Amino acid sequence: MQRGGEKPPARPGDGESGEEALPSAARALEALLPPLRFAVKDGFAGAERLLALAATVRGAVERARAFGAPDSEALRRLVAEAEAFDASPKAERRRALARMAARLGALIPLPAELREAARAARLEAEPSSPSPVRGNRTGERAMAREGLARKEPHTSAERKERRLMLRRTLAELSFPHPAPRALLEERGRGTVEAALEFWPKAYQDRSRVRAVGELEMGEEATVLGRVLAVRRQRMRNGRPILKVTLADAVAEGAKGRLELTFFNPPSWRFKGLVGGDSLLASGKVTEGYGGRRQMSQPEVEKVAPGDSANFGRIVPFYPGPSDYQHPALRKLMKRLCDEFAPLAPDELPEEIRARRGLIGRGRALREVHFPPPGTDPVRASARASPAFRRLVFEELFFLQLVLARRRRGVRAEPGIAFDASPAALSRAVARLPFALTGAQRRVLGEIARDMARPEPMNRLLQGDVGSGKTAVAFAAAMLAVGSGFQAAVMVPTEILAEQHARTLSSWLGGSGVEVARVLAVGRGKEQREARARVADGRARIAVGTHALLVEEVAFEKLGLVVVDEQHRFGVLQRARLMAKGRRPDVLVMTATPIPRTLALAFYGDLDHSKIDEMPPGRTPVLTHLFGDSQRRAAYDEVRRELDRGHQAYVVYPLVEESEKTDLADATSGAAELSRTFPNRAVGLLHGRMTTEEKREVMDRFRGGQVQILVATTVIEVGVDVPNASVMVVEHAERFGLSQLHQLRGRVGRGSAKSRCLLIAHFRRAGDEAKERLKAMEATEDGFELARADLRIRGPGELVGTRQSGQRLFEVADLYRDEAILEEAREEAQALIEADPDLARPEHEAAREALEERWADRLSLARVG
Ligand code: ADP
Ligand code: MG
Repeated sequence: MQRGGEKPPARPGDGESGEEALPSAARALEALLPPLRFAVKDGFAGAERLLALAATVRGAVERARAFGAPDSEALRRLVAEAEAFDASPKAERRRALARMAARLGALIPLPAELREAARAARLEAEPSSPSPVRGNRTGERAMAREGLARKEPHTSAERKERRLMLRRTLAELSFPHPAPRALLEERGRGTVEAALEFWPKAYQDRSRVRAVGELEMGEEATVLGRVLAVRRQRMRNGRPILKVTLADAVAEGAKGRLELTFFNPPSWRFKGLVGGDSLLASGKVTEGYGGRRQMSQPEVEKVAPGDSANFGRIVPFYPGPSDYQHPALRKLMKRLCDEFAPLAPDELPEEIRARRGLIGRGRALREVHFPPPGTDPVRASARASPAFRRLVFEELFFLQLVLARRRRGVRAEPGIAFDASPAALSRAVARLPFALTGAQRRVLGEIARDMARPEPMNRLLQGDVGSGKTAVAFAAAMLAVGSGFQAAVMVPTEILAEQHARTLSSWLGGSGVEVARVLAVGRGKEQREARARVADGRARIAVGTHALLVEEVAFEKLGLVVVDEQHRFGVLQRARLMAKGRRPDVLVMTATPIPRTLALAFYGDLDHSKIDEMPPGRTPVLTHLFGDSQRRAAYDEVRRELDRGHQAYVVYPLVEESEKTDLADATSGAAELSRTFPNRAVGLLHGRMTTEEKREVMDRFRGGQVQILVATTVIEVGVDVPNASVMVVEHAERFGLSQLHQLRGRVGRGSAKSRCLLIAHFRRAGDEAKERLKAMEATEDGFELARADLRIRGPGELVGTRQSGQRLFEVADLYRDEAILEEAREEAQALIEADPDLARPEHEAAREALEERWADRLSLARVG
């Protein structure tokens, strides 16, 4: 979807700085007009029903001040007058209201009915009153006098104040209706800003209001009519039905009739409608009894003067709330949009906004909920409106800004120039027991070029499970060692550390280069000894887990840091390991296939290499899905493999390594398997075993003494036993897609045809889980799976934010918004090049935004 080039439609009166001209202190005060108009309606009938006016007025006045209105006497009087109104007995409210209107009229232009009311107050002659109200003109002059119409000034302090306003809770504001507020609070959107960022999922065009007579059968329409009759009936089961007959407001006759039907309506609905009301209704026109036209469960609203949130415009629909909750929700949103959205400071540098044709933030926040006339509702629903474009751009821009800054910081420092000559390279590669694949050779060339240069390498090596990243890392480590430096290889699990140490040692056989395993702090003599050998340089390569990061681990001369399966580590951990050397080169490796958009978004500060070819002799892994009740059939397949002399994994999920029930699952599973396969040896492997216990079980499995290895997900990454040709995954519905792909990569490493058998409890599985499992069955291609994952769940899982449970992006969708991402990236890089510290005044707002609004969220992006 190409959204990149779209320019927002021009709007009349919306010049270059359209955003700045609209919101003003006056606009904040205009929010007081609807309640006052309501109050004076029908001969001041509404005055008695108006509650807590002072709170509303105080809010509006505060906002006006935030827009730069001086703390004037006139504003204070306005508040005092509202307080007086609240305190008045009903009979005197009319007069209080009139004074209130007069005060307001001194500040902003009033509509006719309020001018009328204000005149009444003036006639009562209040000599002290400073406000000779004579309609619009006077109001405007007064506004200018009070400085209310001042253009948005935008100093840092003012922006801060506005941000605070937007962080207000909805509870602090006074809303007539508690339901929509509760609805937002339930969704964690209890502040003004969070509510404004509750994005609509779709829109409906109700800007064209039609007459009853025009309606066609089968169409979705919004119609304006007059209530002819209201009937209350009962269905056969006793439930109430409300039937409302609508006639054309002007034309008479049978053609102009429409029947509205409400099943089981809430009680207020009965009271609300009476004959003669003008009513707007929106819904689908269907054929009712006797060919009559009807609408079933339409949305309706009595026609009130002013600006409806629900009719006569393009209206939003939000994800979650039901249709009948929407009218009140939209009213609340409308208020937030009118009163608060214009307060949102615009933090994008003006120049970028202009160059990329982006509308201002305040306008975007408003129009994302209530698109202006002429917006295509279908495009808006696909988030291709100018409002969405602006918001998406902003989100991606600030992420790219963080990455660009980080990248620059790294580039600026001098690093090590290793000897990566062709001779050194071939010496390293000669130690491998196989010839490198073309892809391995290519990426090794890229790495060698980086290592030869004095800037620190900062490279991401991507390669699907089993593509042979270890061999590449080994060769890189040998270049470092050959130049007199040490290399550190960090991996997420002890089992993997053991295995890497073993593999590297075997490739090093006879070279005299020593590999140390750094596994856990303070675990006896062996670990102390390993640390000592790393510290004094006897060991040239250290392979380890997080244990490498602790203070007690020091290097004699660390030159290369390799982080394997990097999605398990955060950026801070990478930094901590780097700090143990003097600007070492860094190679991070991942098997998690990252689509280009994601790589750009999250690893923008790394260079990329990709192994896109498998070593020869790989066999495809067939994947089958079994229901819980089909376990027997799955185990029959396992038996066949064992009979051929192969080995099997049986994997149980483990949400947390300490979770007891999961452990119990694996333990009882192992016992069960021993009974099912009485003449096979079954081993058990889980995260709570000691290093020695784990090592022993793995050794026995690798050696073939154990044929079935029951394991929790500790084997998820990197374990390499080529004779294992079948894997059973229990509770497959509980695994993520990338995790399943990693697991499946444990088989298919030898020449034997391999199988992956997924056993799922479908009844408990959600739709998402089913989609995941189907995708697993359908393809072996890690890249395709990553795309599927992105589609099914969004990017959180891929980049390792799963523990946080938060979504990284509020509005951007890396699938859809690739073009915008590219633009945001270009702009962010150019900005950082021109002004690395964002020190120029025109970038001050962007710097604040980075620190105040984005820092927390972006720390979730675990880069490298
Ligand atoms: P991963 O990229 O998942 O870390 P590994 O480095 O563990 O993959 O490699 C998987 C297996 O493939 C290992 O057994 C490794 O020895 C083997 N291998 C790697 N490169 C080659 C190659 N060029 N030719 C043959 N086998 C290879
Ligand atoms: Mg690996």
